[in-house]
Amino acid sequence: MAPHDGLFIDESSIVHTLEHARAADAAAVRDVLAKARQLGGLEAADMAVLMNVSDPGLLAELFSTAERVKDTIYGRRLVLFAPLYVSNLCANECTYCAFRARNTSLVRRALSQEEIAREIRTLIDQGHKRVLLVAGESYPKQGFQYVLDCIDTIYGVKNGPGEVRRVNANVAPLTLDEFRELKARKIGTYQLFQETYHHQTYAAVHLGGKKRDYAWRVTAMDRAMEAGIDDVGIGVLFGLFDWRFELLALMQHIRHLEAAFGVGPHTISVPRLEPATGSDLASHPPHAVGDVDFRKIVAILRLAVPYTGIIMSTRESANIRRETFALGVSQISAGSRTNPGGYAEDERLDASQFCLGDHRSLDEVVRDVASLGYIPSFCTGCYRLGRTGADFMDLAKPGDIKQHCDPNGLSTFLEYLLDYATPETRQVGDRCIAQALEGMDEWPRARSRQLMERVRAGERDVYC
Ligand code: SAM
Ligand code: SF4
Repeated sequence: MAPHDGLFIDESSIVHTLEHARAADAAAVRDVLAKARQLGGLEAADMAVLMNVSDPGLLAELFSTAERVKDTIYGRRLVLFAPLYVSNLCANECTYCAFRARNTSLVRRALSQEEIAREIRTLIDQGHKRVLLVAGESYPKQGFQYVLDCIDTIYGVKNGPGEVRRVNANVAPLTLDEFRELKARKIGTYQLFQETYHHQTYAAVHLGGKKRDYAWRVTAMDRAMEAGIDDVGIGVLFGLFDWRFELLALMQHIRHLEAAFGVGPHTISVPRLEPATGSDLASHPPHAVGDVDFRKIVAILRLAVPYTGIIMSTRESANIRRETFALGVSQISAGSRTNPGGYAEDERLDASQFCLGDHRSLDEVVRDVASLGYIPSFCTGCYRLGRTGADFMDLAKPGDIKQHCDPNGLSTFLEYLLDYATPETRQVGDRCIAQALEGMDEWPRARSRQLMERVRAGERDVYC
């Protein structure tokens, strides 16, 4: 596969599609919603039609269609993870981020392997099974080997009945060889956000370091996939430029990956800019996205790429997070800290990347999610059975994934309840499991019961 130069982002066609959709009426919106209900996804022109919806009645139709699609494909599961910030050293100058090189008010730190192991023991003690490794773009003297060592350390920690079963990574774009090394470390998803796909804005907010190179960043997923990492996660940092433009550009990125590698991204992240120390831009986003538009973003993505996971982080408040679960979110972080060392030590704002919107512990989030009727899942089954990339999509597309995910979700939730939950959460969780079983088809219900029996008998890490 020849290296790509990022020319798959065509700004003029995006502008044209957005302009063309301005004339769309209610009938056009309903046509797009009817198409979305077929679960085959949407094209850019369809998405642009939905972006214009402002009438409260039509907006309610958009949201209820997204809820229906989400429920059909994903059911009631929500996968939980924690970010692990290993280092806030950074050579770049992203004007929105507290980690940027010239921010002198930040306390800099790269965790040692012993400190990482301590963080991981704390996360395991809380009940986490999935970790997203995050770092600034500058490593201690070992260079990129530092990241590889961190992954080995994380997988190597065992603590009581638990361990981290899947490490995802959000680190700066790598070379093909480095991606091969990352793949050999058995990471789950490689995640990287373009921040903004708009070239001019990209240049204006990235003032120094390697990240100034738009093409190097936008082609990172090509190199990752070429290196055999078939689970990749993309995203946009909302607030830097017009969200409508960004969604259509994101779609061009997805179509490019599908055409080049036969499979699109495994996940899409939708971070909104949050205040960060030493950044005026972060407190005054030039294209701030309001809450209604934010919900529209989630709903439109759910309809456009129904089989791609959507990740909601703790940047958002508990309320916004709750609202977006129904609209399409499939993965959430919980109990997060964005300062290196923040789990085993205290949360320190002078070492954090940005301010969080949801400060609740994992136990509180699990209780809340379960009381809303969602199944908090700690499942890592697909990845461990090699059901990734195109294999995952083949299984996901006809809706078959529910046959595996529901039983795996319930059995890992039960593990959590037995090993880590407070008595209150355990009560809410037991009720949630009973309700979920009632609503299931016969085969997955029998499968779930079998798996949960094994967990009750003392087995751990069971999946189908
Ligand atoms: N340093 C690597 C990079 O920039 O890709 C990876 C880690 S970076 C810490 C992870 C993400 O945090 C960035 O891609 C960006 O989208 C997000 N981020 C940075 N500043 C933020 C802010 N003020 N509010 C919300 N998210 C922010
Ligand atoms: Fe560094 Fe990433 Fe923050 Fe940019 S977003 S300053 S690259 S940590």
